[in-house]
Amino acid sequence: MSKWDVLIIGSGISSLTCAALLAKRGKSVCVLEQYNKPGGYLHCFSRFGERFETGAHYVGAMGKGQPFRALLKYLDVYDDNLFVPLDTEGFDVFNFPGFQVKFPRGYDGVIGALSAQFPQEKTAIQAYFDMIRTVVNQFPTYQFNAASDIETPTEALETSVATVVRRLTSNLKLQCVLFSYCIHHGVAPEDIPFGFHAIVTDSLIRGAYGLKNGGDAVARKFVETIEKHGGSVRLNTRVARLVTRDKHIDEVVTENGETFAADWVISGIHPKAVFGLLSEPEVLSPAFRSRVANLKESTGIFGVYAACTLDLPLNPLRNYYYFGSDNPAAYLESTTPATPGAVFVSSGTRVLRPGQKTIPVSFHASSPIEWFEPWRATAYGARPQDYRALKNELAESIFALVERYQPGLRASVRQFVTSSPLTNLHFNGSEEGSSYGIYHSFQNTGARSLGPRTHIRNLLLTGQNCLFPGLLGSAVAALRTSGHLVGIKPILNELNQEMRNFT
Ligand SMILES: Cc1cc2nc3c(=O)[nH]c(=O)nc-3n(C[C@H](O)[C@H](O)[C@H](O)COP(=O)(O)OP(=O)(O)OC[C@H]3O[C@@H](n4cnc5c(N)ncnc54)[C@H](O)[C@@H]3O)c2cc1C
Repeated sequence: MSKWDVLIIGSGISSLTCAALLAKRGKSVCVLEQYNKPGGYLHCFSRFGERFETGAHYVGAMGKGQPFRALLKYLDVYDDNLFVPLDTEGFDVFNFPGFQVKFPRGYDGVIGALSAQFPQEKTAIQAYFDMIRTVVNQFPTYQFNAASDIETPTEALETSVATVVRRLTSNLKLQCVLFSYCIHHGVAPEDIPFGFHAIVTDSLIRGAYGLKNGGDAVARKFVETIEKHGGSVRLNTRVARLVTRDKHIDEVVTENGETFAADWVISGIHPKAVFGLLSEPEVLSPAFRSRVANLKESTGIFGVYAACTLDLPLNPLRNYYYFGSDNPAAYLESTTPATPGAVFVSSGTRVLRPGQKTIPVSFHASSPIEWFEPWRATAYGARPQDYRALKNELAESIFALVERYQPGLRASVRQFVTSSPLTNLHFNGSEEGSSYGIYHSFQNTGARSLGPRTHIRNLLLTGQNCLFPGLLGSAVAALRTSGHLVGIKPILNELNQEMRNFT
């Protein structure tokens, strides 16, 4: 049996962050990943000779001296070749019926752009972004400030984005713009805690970057660092069973019968999935089992990956949001396959190669897994014609919404493939095929989130289901998880120093 200080299940960004951090601090670590590539939703795939991202379209807080870059530098994973700044004149372009807003880099630019669009709302706009700046300063695992307690500020996590915005403005169009980033949590504005939304918004406004060579390159860099510090990343190694005795995992057993032992086991997969692997699930209290069983997932996402002709007026260093309506009460969700609520468009290749003939463009819209329920038991690659017909219908309704704003889009699409929540389920094993994990409402965020500790003495949780979703959120969750093994304060102090090296 192979023995380690720490075994880590799954190789998503949170698992890789724990592995790199703990390996750097002298722990022997081994990551066990079921798929043939590391990275989870970081990984890319190729079609029509083009590269597409699965779940790493852009990241925030990546400017010099900003938290995500500092964290990656601290882990020896940052490299200028991995990331590219998005267009500072307008990294996000929001299209609503009758109006368009661009977010340029920096608070002044965003406040200026919105104030020009909504001159009557200048005061509300200023107040909203002031609140964001104040609130993010209170999160120690975002600001890397070890002086405060690691618990997140209660008030910011007890008030929803919808409440904050509606208190400040009754302008429905402005409300729509300010709610737009809810797409990135898969959680409704009424349910998403303002504090979490503030971190997403702050990180993107200050430092939105794309991935220069794809998420695969980032995952490879993580693996290189882990191996440099003596750790190991095992691919095609699916964890099938956790043998427990006296609330302690004695053995980790893989699908192919290999066994591993470790002082600590970190799970970077969904809590339902990991607790389902325990040989004695009854060691968990009935109340806890019921809490986990009743966790709701964030909404599923449907993806269309197209090779488009280069005459499409799309800047690869920008993201585009297209909304079907400007009614803030119901504009984010897709209610039927024919009516996508919002479509997020980004380029799979941020920097075009010389001689490139087409541009890879991804389109994403919400799509509940319930729409695909009839085919859940069918096998990937062998799903029947009616499943493919529904996917084509969805793709065409997504194209039709974008076409309203970008005439000629459909004609520029040369070839395309699609992914549904069932595709995510197949490749990633994520519960209900969700993209952002559990529904991060008030009940599942901050101090009320599941958090790293479990009733199993040597099992810790990490990842998007543990604290916050997204690449940054999952990496921050990994800091808290690793903190249980090596102390959070030293980690935060070192990260703080890393940030100050730039100032
Ligand atoms: C369509 C889409 C778009 C997104 N866009 C963005 C974006 O632009 N920016 C952003 O910040 N975030 C984005 N996200 C979210 C982001 O990708 C995720 O929040 C983040 O990557 C989750 O990381 P994680 O560490 O929790 O684990 P995951 O990435 O979910 O990885 C879990 C890993 O565990 C493995 N695994 C599962 N079961 C087992 C087992 N039994 N044994 C071994 N291995 C197992 C899986 O194969 C997988 O590799 C997007 C997600 C999706 C799907």
